[in-house]
Amino acid sequence: MSTVTHWIDGAEWNGTATQQGDVYDPATGEVTKKVDFASGADMADAVAIAKRAFDEVWGSSTLTKRMQVLFNFRELVNQRKEDIAALITAEHGKVLSDALGEVTRGLEVVEFACGNAHLLKGGFSEQVSTGVDVHSLRQPLGVVGIISPFNFPAMVPMWFFPIAIAAGNTVIVKPSEKDPSALMLVAELWQEAGLPDGVFNVVHGDKVAVDALLTHPDIASISFVGSTPIAQYVYETGTSHGKRVQALGGAKNHMLVLPDADLDLTADSAVNAGFGSAGERCMAISVVVAVEPVADALVAAISGRMAGLRIGDGRRGCDMGPLVTAVHRDKVAGYVSAGVEEGAELVVDGRNVTPDGAEQGFWLGPTLFDRVTPDMSIYADEIFGPVLSVVRVDSFDEGLELINSHPFGNGTAVFTCDGGAARRFTNEVQVGMIGVNVPIPVPMAYYSFGGWKSSLFGDTHAHGTEGFHFFTRGKVVTSRWPDPAHGGINLGFPTHG
Ligand code: NAD
Repeated sequence: MSTVTHWIDGAEWNGTATQQGDVYDPATGEVTKKVDFASGADMADAVAIAKRAFDEVWGSSTLTKRMQVLFNFRELVNQRKEDIAALITAEHGKVLSDALGEVTRGLEVVEFACGNAHLLKGGFSEQVSTGVDVHSLRQPLGVVGIISPFNFPAMVPMWFFPIAIAAGNTVIVKPSEKDPSALMLVAELWQEAGLPDGVFNVVHGDKVAVDALLTHPDIASISFVGSTPIAQYVYETGTSHGKRVQALGGAKNHMLVLPDADLDLTADSAVNAGFGSAGERCMAISVVVAVEPVADALVAAISGRMAGLRIGDGRRGCDMGPLVTAVHRDKVAGYVSAGVEEGAELVVDGRNVTPDGAEQGFWLGPTLFDRVTPDMSIYADEIFGPVLSVVRVDSFDEGLELINSHPFGNGTAVFTCDGGAARRFTNEVQVGMIGVNVPIPVPMAYYSFGGWKSSLFGDTHAHGTEGFHFFTRGKVVTSRWPDPAHGGINLGFPTHG
């Protein structure tokens, strides 16, 4: 059985760790690989190498050189995207077309980062005082850490590292131990693109590796994406060790459906956004808030569409694959049982699914609950599986209040043909990313991605101009080149005039 080991200093790197994790093929239930878990000493080696690469090579590299490497990398990822997608499907389980979509969205960040020369420009003000000019500049931070979740093994780290590298930093990525292989191929492509050794490093592991990153004095910043309790822990630990931290957490995304909504568009969108990637997306819709009298027709339209979904091995052209692990599948199935016990109406039971795949795969079919109420655990908790809940409300205001009362604030959507209602929703909802008749409003790379409330700790969102801001720090220079007219001695506080 092959072992996925670290990528440090431009090559595979066998660490000293004695711990390993199992990597599963979720569609067969089999362990297909082992992955090395870094020790604190392994992480320290990686940081030392990344620091040397920053100090000696990349931190002082020219904008032109960085842009050329990024362009090469963009071409190589584009050429190899099917291979990256196949690795994702084999370890995550999502269907191949979805895995390809993930790589494409990651590539958009690389394309955005190719504009680094423009995005890193400072400002200049001439003659702020007699003979005095001011200019600002932004410089890289140094060695930056990225810790990513299982659900987007390529796209989520690609929200960060193209921009970090474009800005002149060197990088250590700690991928999810559940699907570690995609980034190993990405690392090879960086090297082929001409990125110097030690600039992009991949260190695998669990909490030990994460803690080593969070506390290492030479790590300047942490970009984390994962569940809310770990995001909060990472934020608190990283900031208390003097680091700049952006920590994106969990979600519970509501779709508000007004009575005038286009029913076919709404039902299609609820099914696509609820069950795509088996609901294992931080922007998945997990609650449909139906403003009466739309609920009966909407539930019928959604359940009718669910009957046509093909569940099975992601390599066989199915619509939805398995869940990532047996443990996670059992946890999600536990929520289905809890929903029944708590009194919700189980319209479609995914526990009865007959998949097109091996019996031992981690299967759970799409599940629909109606008449869910806010006190139920299936409403309150992030389930992160193919379970869609319908909550019935009597008015727009009741629906808005429900959404704003939830602790998560990652994404949301409103479905309506009324522009005024949509405008009020976007204005008043307490959520970071909003769709109007769009179910998964993941912003384009040149905007920034991030939620509110318990969905993000820190104040900087991912990619877009906020990404360049996060991975650089500013300086302002006030300068005068003496000429014979300088003002002589004056102990007063400098003012301009
Ligand atoms: P997770 O929190 O279990 O793991 C995320 C990362 O943290 C992994 O690299 C993991 O190895 C590490 N980790 C796990 N336990 C740790 C611990 N005790 N101490 C330190 N590090 C630890 O999340 P996951 O299950 O991989 O991913 C799913 C979660 O990610 C969901 O909650 C989902 O909403 C969230 N997510 C959020 C976004 C977003 O943009 N807000 C995007 C994708 C996923």
